[in-house]
Amino acid sequence: MRPKITNYIDVGPEPERDRGISRALTPLSLPRVEMVQRRGPVLHPSPMPDHEGVLSLNLTRNCGHRCPFCSVRAQPSYPGDEVISLYRNTAADLAAELAQRRHPPTAVLISPSSDPFPPLARVQAETAKVVDVIASHGIDTWLMTRGFIRPSALRVLARHANRVRVTVELTTLDRTLQRLLEPLAAPPQLRIRQIAQLRSLGVNVQVGLEPLIPDLTDTRQNLSSLLEALAATGVKHVTTGYMFLRKTIGEHLGEALEPLGLESAVTDAYADGPLLASGGIAPARYLPKKYRQRGYAGLMAMAAGLGIAVRVSATTNPDFITTRRTEKDGCRGPLQLPLFAEAGSRTSLI
Ligand code: SF4
Repeated sequence: MRPKITNYIDVGPEPERDRGISRALTPLSLPRVEMVQRRGPVLHPSPMPDHEGVLSLNLTRNCGHRCPFCSVRAQPSYPGDEVISLYRNTAADLAAELAQRRHPPTAVLISPSSDPFPPLARVQAETAKVVDVIASHGIDTWLMTRGFIRPSALRVLARHANRVRVTVELTTLDRTLQRLLEPLAAPPQLRIRQIAQLRSLGVNVQVGLEPLIPDLTDTRQNLSSLLEALAATGVKHVTTGYMFLRKTIGEHLGEALEPLGLESAVTDAYADGPLLASGGIAPARYLPKKYRQRGYAGLMAMAAGLGIAVRVSATTNPDFITTRRTEKDGCRGPLQLPLFAEAGSRTSLI
């Protein structure tokens, strides 16, 4: 006899932990978009070391995704999460700037301090316009995202596929954990499908498994499911790096992980780690080197079994000796700056 199916099961009172998780997963309202006037030029030096010809531009003052590990969001000058400040006329101002430049950049990075594809149509429309302008000057655009790229923006990327590189960042396939770590970013399965879609459109896609967070996203279980999903889409290379910590990042993470009872477990792992500065990144606390080495070695071994090569980010491991990546490594033009790392400021924020 077939079991009777009911749509209501009395499981008794919800445990406190589950209640905390449900509360934390209550859908967040999207930020309001406010137009602001940019002061100064659109293009500025890239925060990435070793990329002199690359310039960058920010479309917004803040980001729409609210990741607690984000160092940009932890800066004292960060304007908050409720309103996204979108710069007015970026595409038009950029066209005027490029027309006047004697030496055009080799590539433009969008946007080092925010995500170009938040769940906000106006921001994505401006991103698409900017990509159009950059491509019309024969210049490459590099974009890094945790977002869902809307069809209209995707069409623009496809039109300029030979001039566009997109780095898709992922932390986990676990939807509950992902909603705590990247609250307004695209669901991870959607990002995986978008990687496949971008590849099918001829866009150069890179993948960042970033940031790794100790005992949370660097576990065997978490990484193996991510790697299997990526291998299934034909991904052969990933970049990775552990999160670094500052006081405010620790506070944001503590709040986000409280429902899991992990509010201090993650930050405790950094207690004996070194304090390091790296390129354009202000000093921060890193995990002990041995922990990172062990984590990367485990990830590399797992990935190798699926035919995926792992590159460790030099930017978030300034105490590692690295060699420059070349075309032979299979990834054209490295993006060394993970999207959770802020650009520029070397002020101590610890
Ligand atoms: S990590 Fe990236 S996507 Fe997340 S809030 Fe920061 S800039 Fe936005």
